[in-house]
Amino acid sequence: MKKNDYIDLTCTYLSTDAKGVCKANDFCFYVDNLLPNESCNATVEGIKGKTVYARVMELNNKSVDRVDVNCNSYEKCGGCNLLHLKYSKQLEFKKNNIHLLFKNKGINARVLEVIGMNNPFNYRNKVIASVSLNNKKIVYGMYEENSHDVVYNKNCLIQNKKLNELLISIKEELDKLKIKPEGFGGVLRHIMMRIGINTNEVLIVFVTNSEMFPGRNELVKALTKKHKEIKTIIQNINPRITPIVFGNKERVLYGPGFITDKLLNNSYKISYRSFYQVNPIQTEILYKKAIELANLNKNEVVLDCYSGIGTISLSLAKQVKQVIGVEIVKEAVNDAINNAKHNNINNAKFICDDCKKFMNNYNGIIDTLFVDPPRSGLDNEFIKSVRRLKPNKIIYISCNPSTQVDDISKLLDLYNLKEIQPVDLFPNTIHCENICLLTRK
Ligand code: SAH
Repeated sequence: MKKNDYIDLTCTYLSTDAKGVCKANDFCFYVDNLLPNESCNATVEGIKGKTVYARVMELNNKSVDRVDVNCNSYEKCGGCNLLHLKYSKQLEFKKNNIHLLFKNKGINARVLEVIGMNNPFNYRNKVIASVSLNNKKIVYGMYEENSHDVVYNKNCLIQNKKLNELLISIKEELDKLKIKPEGFGGVLRHIMMRIGINTNEVLIVFVTNSEMFPGRNELVKALTKKHKEIKTIIQNINPRITPIVFGNKERVLYGPGFITDKLLNNSYKISYRSFYQVNPIQTEILYKKAIELANLNKNEVVLDCYSGIGTISLSLAKQVKQVIGVEIVKEAVNDAINNAKHNNINNAKFICDDCKKFMNNYNGIIDTLFVDPPRSGLDNEFIKSVRRLKPNKIIYISCNPSTQVDDISKLLDLYNLKEIQPVDLFPNTIHCENICLLTRK
């Protein structure tokens, strides 16, 4: 087996990262855009031991679960690896993956049906697009995997429609004003946008590599004249060469520097540096489900770790005695404190700290613990503190069930795993949000 060889393959199942897995000649092949029971002629792209990465040249038969893909960046972008699979089957795939994660850890538990969306498109309320130049005109999109080539996509199928329209309009203005990207005689690096889908307010951030941003005033004027939904425009300055999008400095060019959105019964001020769930329709379902599973009462103290702008804390505050949110990003904590005031909630307190450190020093009572950590999950020190503080209930919300399962397995001598409820926050991608309820033994 060598690179560029051709081979006939038949897919037996999907790997957890949605590649079609095929066995042939003692090798295991991973093929993008190939579904179970489909056969194809493929070409070998890379070999690592007995693992071969291959690409479909010709599909011989189509699975009944295959759907047409209407995205012209599909092959290059790599964002939506499941676009070619019927949505009901995507949900089955995600449930099965979560089931396998628990099973492989020796945990036999029932995973509930994944809660999906009625319309699994145009759900993302946030865009981060990199900017480049092609034929002297601005192009924008995600970088192609392992490269700095921008995959230009004018109509991203999972992005909010208004944001897609605004990006086209921004491109037109940039071209008109001859504002150039970094590397092409200009300073512009990225465009970040966020929309409050329940308020129709839009925030735009232009990330530049210097404070000088020629054409800035004309750009702001043209955009805000054309689009009344633009509530605020910010310039973020990031002179460092780094894959991290934002630098430390910023300048508000227009408006108050934040937008507002509504979620469940509260409204939230959101600054651009704060984390805010990207799929607000499913976030409401996620929070409702998580709070329902917690079965809260008026005498409880709740700790909400990794609290962001306070959305979970403030959604449940009215049902409990007190809630404490802990979050490491200062801007997000400020947003959370303002959001509590703004919604007349006075039994919620927010602390800016590393959750691990906070838990280590904490000696009070926690009846119910909510955790919603980043993809890396909880670290051992955090888990040690959980074992010391022994909350009655733990609601573990995760965007990476793989680390979630690892963490939970370290608590099962003290806790029963009562419920596993996945919620699809990321349709058409391989990702899935998952809620687990643990109760004290
Ligand atoms: N629960 C919130 C945010 C979840 S995202 C929501 O649903 O919107 C995870 C959050 O954890 C982010 O806001 C991130 O800034 C924060 N975070 C990451 N590492 C942290 C740490 N070590 N201590 C505290 N917060 C942290």
